Amino acid sequence: MKLAINGGAPIRKELFPEYKTINEQEIDEVLKVIKSGVLSQFLGTHHDNFNGGPQIRMFENEWAEYFEVKHAISVNSCTSGLICAVGALDIEPGDEVICSPYTMIASATAPLFYGAIPVFADVEKDFFCLDIADVERKITNKTRAIIAVDIFGQPISKELIDLAKKRNLAIIEDCAQSPGAKLNDVFTGKLGDVGVFSLNYHKHIHTGEGGVVVTDNDHLAERIRLIRNHAEAVVGGRKTQKINNLIGFNFRLTEIQAAIGREQLKKLSGIVSQMNSGAKYLIKELSDIPGISGGKERKGAYHAYYALPLLWDQEKADGISRKSFIQAVAAELQPTKNREKEGPLIGQGYVKPLYLEPCFQQKIAFGSKGYPFNLGNPDYSLGSCPVVEDLHFNRLFSTQLYGPHFKENDYQDVIKAFYKVWENRKELYQ
Ligand SMILES: *Cc1c(COP(=O)(O)O)cnc(C)c1O
Repeated sequence: MKLAINGGAPIRKELFPEYKTINEQEIDEVLKVIKSGVLSQFLGTHHDNFNGGPQIRMFENEWAEYFEVKHAISVNSCTSGLICAVGALDIEPGDEVICSPYTMIASATAPLFYGAIPVFADVEKDFFCLDIADVERKITNKTRAIIAVDIFGQPISKELIDLAKKRNLAIIEDCAQSPGAKLNDVFTGKLGDVGVFSLNYHKHIHTGEGGVVVTDNDHLAERIRLIRNHAEAVVGGRKTQKINNLIGFNFRLTEIQAAIGREQLKKLSGIVSQMNSGAKYLIKELSDIPGISGGKERKGAYHAYYALPLLWDQEKADGISRKSFIQAVAAELQPTKNREKEGPLIGQGYVKPLYLEPCFQQKIAFGSKGYPFNLGNPDYSLGSCPVVEDLHFNRLFSTQLYGPHFKENDYQDVIKAFYKVWENRKELYQ
């Protein structure tokens, strides 16, 4: 059978179904809000409406109850939430924050807004979250916090949490990819001191754009609420004592988004359970191909599978490189509806190790003189995190071709594409 990459007929001819969780329930609730005329009720002053209107308050209460956490604070993105979280901790310019190089870039740029320096630690070769041995090596007397990401939906490790406690470091948990995931029956978001969720269009549940910060700590919650909503104008009225890092932003979510979020939250556990079973189905089916491994879950973890990362071993695969194999598989498949321009949702690697991006390579963030990198001397050189570099450039591939929108025939096409390429691999040598 001629491979599609060599001009043969592809396995899949139509688009994969749309991942769509916005239905009548959301539409009804949005209409009610629009008809009420109150699209946001936040006031950026010391006033009863400082914490927003009715939908925001109900959404936050429901989120807190669901995730069994004392405070849930809505924001307009996970990026903003991460900035709030860094500011809420008493981070000083020149402090160091340990970050993962294998994540969406906002999880590593948040410290820069307070003059702190991101220091990258390597990731675990099986689970892709921060590796505790390398984190430990990178702790200095300037380290104040760790931004730990539940990457792809895999919860961070208990060992990392214990290390942070032992070294008196705060953990900001970026749970953008792991809403509903658990470690030893505790929801992600509660594993560190502050958790930050994303509600952008591509996440498990969404409000178009949006995010939620969660914490059990009253002091941090108050500071996060202040930073979300023009802190500097509010601290006087609230008689806030410590005003460090309390120059605020407008990171407010709207009433419409909160109304959507309330309906989306009701769907979360069903969605995560289907992401989890769909990913496991692919892992089981694809693991028989020599050269494919991975799909490991941490002990005690309930994985949310925002994406499914797998590993390629060129030696075990008769010398076929990840690049030729994955390109050939993608050629057999089709894009997903409403994401046509992204091509088939299967790719080599994930994001380039973040320290290789221009802002870290050139050490240019705010202004042109190197601030805040020039308050320290961080190492962003190629080779500084060898595991992540090997994963990204040689071994890891990832897909989002599974989930609640997938039917058995959709899964079969994905699986067939992999086996077709494997069985006809001779064509790839030509
Ligand atoms: C999506 C994502 C973000 C950013 O979320 P926004 O809501 O778009 O700001 C941050 N971290 C991770 C790991 C993400 O996947």
